[in-house]
Amino acid sequence: MNCRPYRDDLQALVDGELSEQRQEELRLHLAQCARCRARRDLLAALKACLPAPPPVSPGFGQSVMKRLAARPAPPRLAPRLAPRLAAFACVVAIVAAGALLSVRRSRHGLEPDILPDHCLAARCGP
Ligand SMILES: [Zn+2]
Repeated sequence: MNCRPYRDDLQALVDGELSEQRQEELRLHLAQCARCRARRDLLAALKACLPAPPPVSPGFGQSVMKRLAARPAPPRLAPRLAPRLAAFACVVAIVAAGALLSVRRSRHGLEPDILPDHCLAARCGP
């Protein structure tokens, strides 16, 4: 079963950000794919553990973009420093990827090791 066309939209499904047609396509796939259902359930559990974002006033995005446009351009990095920063960024990215990929199987399916216990308890609750 090819899950690739669906995998990237699971978070959008959990967030309610997909069109009706795309939701139906994912639901059909989820009815046949336990792996994607487990991933969707994990994403939903993670979302339930996160606090709700504060409300954003209308026009906030435009206000931020105006302020950013009004700021002077940041200074350029010294040519010697850029490769070191790139190397450091690669190391950070590799460590972060390792942390995100440290997924273990449990009796509930895929769960990351970094999921707090209270989230797991909430997910396993009644
Ligand atoms: Zn799938």
